[in-house]
Formats: sequence, structure tokens, C-alpha cells
Amino acid sequence: MFLRSEAWRRAETTGLSPTQTQILALLVQRGPARVGAVADEIAVTQPTASDAVAALVRKGYVARRADPEDARAARLHPTAAGRRLAAELAVWPDALLGAIDALDPPEQAVFVKGLAKMIRALQMRGAIPVQRICVSCRYFGPHAHADAAQPHHCAFLDAAFGDAALRLDCGDHLEADASAQRESWTRFNDAAA
Ligand code: SF4
Repeated sequence: MFLRSEAWRRAETTGLSPTQTQILALLVQRGPARVGAVADEIAVTQPTASDAVAALVRKGYVARRADPEDARAARLHPTAAGRRLAAELAVWPDALLGAIDALDPPEQAVFVKGLAKMIRALQMRGAIPVQRICVSCRYFGPHAHADAAQPHHCAFLDAAFGDAALRLDCGDHLEADASAQRESWTRFNDAAA
């Protein structure tokens, strides 16, 4: 309820609907994309994405430019104004940060790990597209270290980390193939059991 009411409260101040906000954030975080790819990423229909994109273009936050890979298609680019607005929107609300701070470090680790599991379960059911989380990443080495506080390894960063630092939307994520994901998931859970 908090997140939903926060999304609509922000909509009143920014003039963007939650879907428009999501699309703008996606384009800023992941770079230019076609409307179809945007629709897939945020799990809405193409007409819904097209309407939201048209509004963003009208408001000057997104521009359509020719796709270098296909002259008949267009890619959506965030404008400078769009990037500025996305940076403001990316700041988590104080109330949410305060609620997370109320958890002690072990509780935060359980919370993040639980979120990663829920996201993966939704992905496996096809309810949401693949998210950029560690457990689906080619670079993820679950329980690769003996240190109980930092058992996992990120081969991209070449660094050990613990459950609290599991990433839920990582810009360096590279999707592992299905069998590697299954193996990684088994190790992630078995070693923790
Ligand atoms: S690259 Fe990102 S998603 Fe992949 S293992 Fe490292 S931190 Fe996790």
C-alpha cells in the first residue's frame, strides 16, 4: 500500500503516471530501447507502453531516434530533462529507508535474500521478465568462500559479498544460460540449508 500510494503521490508532483515513471527509469538505467522491448521489460502490453511513451515524448522526457540496426524502426532515448527527473525519482522515499533501517544487519540479509527468492519464483512462473538479480547472473558464484559473512563471489567485480549485498537490479548483470542458473540456484539454497 505504501509503495502504491507513494507512486501516485509522485505522479501528482511529477505529472507522470507510474507506468511512465517506470519506462523513464528503465531507459535511463538500461539505455535506448524499442517500444516492444520496453513493454516486455515492464510486463505491460505494447499499446499500454506506446501510450505511456507518447506521453513521455509529449512532455519532453523521451525522444524517438532512428534505430541504427533498422532504419524503419525507432529507439527511445531519455532527454536531458528526462535524465534529471529520473535522478530525482531514483531516490528512495525517506519512509521506506527508515523502515529498512529498522532492521538489524542479519534481518536485512534475510530480507534481501527473501526478495531475491520471490523475484526468481515470479520469473520461473513467467509472471515477470528476467530481472537483473545475482541468482540469474553468469558472474554469480554462490557459497564460493568459507567466510560465512561473505560467502558469495562476483566474478565481474572479483569480490566476495554476503546475502545483504545481493543485487536486485545490477547494471553489470549478464544472464546465465538455463542450466547454469539451475546449478547456481541449487548451490545457493543447498549450502544455506
Ligand atoms: S555482476 Fe551484478 S548481478 Fe552479477 S554477480 Fe556481480 S553483483 Fe551480482
